[in-house]
Amino acid sequence: MRIAVPMEKQSGENRVALVPESVKKLAGSGVEVCIEPGAGSRAGFPDSDYTAVGGKLMDRGALLQGADILCVVNRPEADDYKRLQANAIVIGFLKPLDDPAGLEPAVKGKLTAFAVELVPRITRAQSMDALSSMATISGYKAVIIAAEHLPKMFPLLMTAAGTVPPAKVLVLGAGVAGLMAIATARRLGAVVESYDVRAAAGQDVKSLGAKFLEVDLGGIETQDAGGYAKELSEEALQRGRDMVAKHAALSDLVITTAQIPGRRAPLMLTEAAIASMRPGSVVVDLAAGTGGNCPLTKPGETVVQNGVTIMGPLNLPATVSLNASQLYSRNLVSFLSLIVSNGALKMDMADEILKGACVTYQGGSLHPKLAAALGQPVA
Ligand code: NAD
Repeated sequence: MRIAVPMEKQSGENRVALVPESVKKLAGSGVEVCIEPGAGSRAGFPDSDYTAVGGKLMDRGALLQGADILCVVNRPEADDYKRLQANAIVIGFLKPLDDPAGLEPAVKGKLTAFAVELVPRITRAQSMDALSSMATISGYKAVIIAAEHLPKMFPLLMTAAGTVPPAKVLVLGAGVAGLMAIATARRLGAVVESYDVRAAAGQDVKSLGAKFLEVDLGGIETQDAGGYAKELSEEALQRGRDMVAKHAALSDLVITTAQIPGRRAPLMLTEAAIASMRPGSVVVDLAAGTGGNCPLTKPGETVVQNGVTIMGPLNLPATVSLNASQLYSRNLVSFLSLIVSNGALKMDMADEILKGACVTYQGGSLHPKLAAALGQPVA
């Protein structure tokens, strides 16, 4: 049984799927772990760290051809999929909802693919929740990059030269990333407000010392059975936007994190709201990759409009590559425990977690989104 870890090819990607600590664990359980030379170097893990714990270095071609399980951060390129043997298993952020058609080579190659984005958020799978691991990092880093751009400090200061008022921060969407942004901004001393359509998020926001903003949405259901926000009517969205605009005008920093899995991110911070913000203010749109919460956001870019800096970072976890790789790697090792036992492949495809994360099994049993994208019947 061979687990392979290639170097990530995506531009700006510094993470690696498995760190030496995990390789040691896997090698100790009788699995052969092969690493492409240099795969961990941008995350702070030189090749020697891998070989010291039983990892084997192997060039990309041989690595892909001999892999029973390929652990990746980002979805492999079509050419890489083609080099894998039939029935090989791929695990990573495979974009099954955003770009299901891009998984066609996995189907053609009769591969089994597990998308970490689809791991059900049930208690037993908490240690495998890579979305939460990466969102935690994004929330933290959003505050840090904003601090770099803001012409203000975060804390209240009483100095001999007078009082410096604390920065005012508004966080839209209080899921995993939003809560981490709130916690980070609070630790730096900012006064923080937050809005989320899920009333349940209010408790979490308040426990972090921030104010939860409530909007009367007429008692509609805003949360689905999985705990995610539901797509709202235009009227309900508008009520949220009106309230957000009032609070944005008084904020130094707005961090937006609102997303709906598999859909375009809801528009929350309008051009008019940005126009009402003071010059020097900053917006960090963490939903930039799924359309953005602000119409002025340019994915992957920083733009300035009327003196307001609007940042649309696409891959903040890659900028905290050491911790991001450690957390992701631990999530994968936990997931692998459902696939590998005593150094051999052992999968129960009836397991709720494997079933939920599987986008294709040996080129069949397609996830509904993938089946729709490829024009095939849902299994
Ligand atoms: P997400 O990234 O899908 O969305 C971020 C936040 O945006 C969510 O809190 C959502 O409610 C909010 N949002 C969406 N549309 C909005 C709108 N129009 N206006 C305001 N806010 C809006 O969310 P996430 O961080 O992945 O978390 C989703 C849910 O899953 C949360 O309830 C979270 O607590 C839960 N969760 C559970 C587990 C677990 O039990 N293992 C782990 C992680 C997250």
